[in-house]
Amino acid sequence: MATSIGRRKPKDVVFGDDLTIEWRDGEVSHYPFFGLRDVCPCAGCIDELSGTKVLDSKSIPADVRIRKAEYVGRYALRFDWSDGHNTGIYTFVFLRELADLHAGGKQPQAKPTETETTGN
Ligand SMILES: [Zn+2]
Repeated sequence: MATSIGRRKPKDVVFGDDLTIEWRDGEVSHYPFFGLRDVCPCAGCIDELSGTKVLDSKSIPADVRIRKAEYVGRYALRFDWSDGHNTGIYTFVFLRELADLHAGGKQPQAKPTETETTGN
């Protein structure tokens, strides 16, 4: 059971067009910003008691991006999003699970809704 987390830690974290994490075991994972923001695990986005998502995906700017990423202890990353959100703590385990989901072809339902242009 004792899964060594060491190999499942990021070696390099890069955010440009998306978030790219290079893991110590050689795996490289890409995370589109929107999808990552949409699965924010913080108490403001997920109801802690019920585990229900309370974040409205439509409230996320389609072009949301990461302004800053920082390590939380030795187990997680925290992001400063361009929409001002910054309370989500993404554990490495969670990030790896997300990556595995993508790799398995099962996309988490995190797609920007049709571009709703605010009447200009
Ligand atoms: Zn959140």
